[in-house]
Amino acid sequence: MPPIPLTLWENEVFEKAQIKVYLARLDLIHPDFGGNKFFKLKYNLEEARRQGKDTLVTFGGAYSNHIWATSAVGHTAGLKTIGYIRGEETLPLNEVLAQAKAWGMELRYVDRTAYRTLKAGELPCLPHEYTIPEGGSNKWAVKGCSEILDLIDLPDYQYVCVPCGTGATLAGLAVGKAGKHCLGVSVLKGGSFLNEDVQQLIQQAGKTATNTWEILLDYHAGGYAKTSPTLQAFCQHFATTYFKLDEVYTAKMLWAIEDLARKERFPAKSTIVALITQRQLGELGRPDAQPNGQKHEK
Ligand SMILES: *Cc1c(COP(=O)(O)O)cnc(C)c1O
Repeated sequence: MPPIPLTLWENEVFEKAQIKVYLARLDLIHPDFGGNKFFKLKYNLEEARRQGKDTLVTFGGAYSNHIWATSAVGHTAGLKTIGYIRGEETLPLNEVLAQAKAWGMELRYVDRTAYRTLKAGELPCLPHEYTIPEGGSNKWAVKGCSEILDLIDLPDYQYVCVPCGTGATLAGLAVGKAGKHCLGVSVLKGGSFLNEDVQQLIQQAGKTATNTWEILLDYHAGGYAKTSPTLQAFCQHFATTYFKLDEVYTAKMLWAIEDLARKERFPAKSTIVALITQRQLGELGRPDAQPNGQKHEK
């Protein structure tokens, strides 16, 4: 794979703190399955094929990037996909579910109780089906995400930041190319359980951490998929110069980085890489999220 495109994010806060912040544009690696979900699915797909399965089965909420990515990968790889969606069908389908359906995913709606059963791993699985957990987070996801740092073509940086939902992407970074400090930003309220989950995921992958890592718990803006006036203002301001942010994940991470810089948490002369884990936003299949002008390109 080619290196991940980098966009330099400049503002007066970083100038004052004398730090450099690069945005690693995982959203631009592919029009259909850009973002971290591609890395999480890569070895799951390989494993499904190795086991001779012809169907990927998974589950998620109605706006799940994981549902989007699984349907895209299945479509491209020629595997059937089934997505269990939490809640009732609402028509017209939202952008995620409409696209998943267009890519051939069979959508099966389940209520909250049934969804919990699925999460507990009690999915009735037929012999030809390969089940991927919620968010795609398992040892294969950790393996895939451990390759992200290999694709960042920057000679010298000390920090790598990522938003955390399940923590599998952070776990992958922690076992990736050595010499970085990995900062995860919890997008969930009360996300301290993520510390244990990340440790477990590293263990399940049969690895030990090669990088130091920590999870910041105070930038959830009220909880998963919640926002605040401050966060919204941040997103709007950012979009005027750069690109549209996914408010559930990447916005919270960038907001955290700016706040930490303001509080001088990063030593002067530090270089930070922030992973833009969102899929390409904007009109389907059409990149509208180009880095703003060539001067921001590395
Ligand atoms: C799924 C997702 C994450 C969270 O990844 P985890 O491995 O579950 O921590 C982060 N950012 C975006 C945009 C996502 O869709």
